[in-house]
Amino acid sequence: MTFNRTPIHITEAVARVIKNTSKTEVETVRYLDSYGKYLAEDLYANDDLPMFNKSAMDGFAIRAEDSKDASGENRKSFKVVEEVPAGTTSDYELQKNEAFRIMTGAEIPTSADAVVMFEQAKEDGNTFTVRKTFNPSDNIALKGEEVKSGDLIVPKGTLINPGVIANLATFGHSTVKVHRTPRVAILSTGSELVDVDQPVERGKIRNSNTPMIVSQLKRIGIRAEVHTFKTDQLDVIIPIFERMLKEVDVIITTGGVSVGDYDLLPKVYEHFQAEVLFNKVAMRPGSVTTVAKLKDTLLFGLSGNPSACYSGFELFVRPSVRYMMGGNDIYAPLIPATLEEDFTKPNPFTRFIRAEVRYTGSEVFVSPSGFNKSNAVTSIARSNGVIVLPSGSRGFKTGDAVHVMLTDVTSGVTKFLINEDF
Ligand code: AMP
Ligand code: MG
Repeated sequence: MTFNRTPIHITEAVARVIKNTSKTEVETVRYLDSYGKYLAEDLYANDDLPMFNKSAMDGFAIRAEDSKDASGENRKSFKVVEEVPAGTTSDYELQKNEAFRIMTGAEIPTSADAVVMFEQAKEDGNTFTVRKTFNPSDNIALKGEEVKSGDLIVPKGTLINPGVIANLATFGHSTVKVHRTPRVAILSTGSELVDVDQPVERGKIRNSNTPMIVSQLKRIGIRAEVHTFKTDQLDVIIPIFERMLKEVDVIITTGGVSVGDYDLLPKVYEHFQAEVLFNKVAMRPGSVTTVAKLKDTLLFGLSGNPSACYSGFELFVRPSVRYMMGGNDIYAPLIPATLEEDFTKPNPFTRFIRAEVRYTGSEVFVSPSGFNKSNAVTSIARSNGVIVLPSGSRGFKTGDAVHVMLTDVTSGVTKFLINEDF
């Protein structure tokens, strides 16, 4: 079988993936079940916020004019006529030098217009004195000061974080429109693979890619269906593929995508006559990463090498799945950082290095997180980002400026930032 493998640039590869990704249908879910999904509708304020003038402090609600000209030598005295705890209000009309004892969050009775904090009052029984002039609105959170009814609070396409949940609750939205969570299957191939709790016979290795991808998916709110093939036989893989194609939006395979004698994925794509979007990317590791499309299902063929598998997921799968979910900020942020270690290898292709990002408060430092071949697995554990070195570069030294893709943050950016001359 001959597969023409022409390497394309990462930017082009990512663009092809997104162009071939469709958003899942919109559905309505209970607001508390929407955490980690993306808003499929703009969220507007359906009321002013605060919804009424309310006390910002525990203290006394007064008529500001009654405190006019108060000073240390000329304290003004007030008589407490009623108590207004939060959740209540009063229609009592304050007379001159009368006050309510009021608690934070309580509605300001219409006859009062300023609040004296307890700390600003000298109390004596049910009277108190003040030594300064209060102005109308002092210590009051005014109706609509935060947002006005009809204001846009959070736009469509925003990741629903705990703050969005709080706003859904605030404005009484018990349900919310989101895109259906994509269904994803992970199919790992390899006759050398054994499960975590199995003895490792001669020549075998434990399957680490499947649980790693399960977790990378969990990180973006997806629970995957998992199939592990401890084989590289086509006739075993095809039926499962056939079933998965009917049931899921995304099939992630690991391994078997290269040009080895037993690398089956090219044969699988051919069998199903899938449209191969690309099968070689100008990057290291993971140059054999392949993405294909069959009807509405995207097939991500990630390398079996753990490090390549990891960065292949972050580069291609994560933005695509986030796009399906209706997200705007689907790409990992790329930030400048100072290299803390020499990296002298030449980079004929864009290179991804698992890295430890260190923030000092004013600066960002980064260093490779350990053994750095594509088959490395330990360096992934110590990494919270990926250094991206541009193709054609070499001889990076301690102190050099480099770019780091942040893989361990939930928020993203709207533009894929890696390009030939970033
Ligand atoms: P492949 O992409 O199938 O050629 O595999 C490349 C390398 O990754 C080989 O050394 C495999 O043994 C290893 N590998 C493949 N699949 C896995 C897996 N699921 N977990 C850990 N290592 C794997
Ligand atoms: Mg293999």
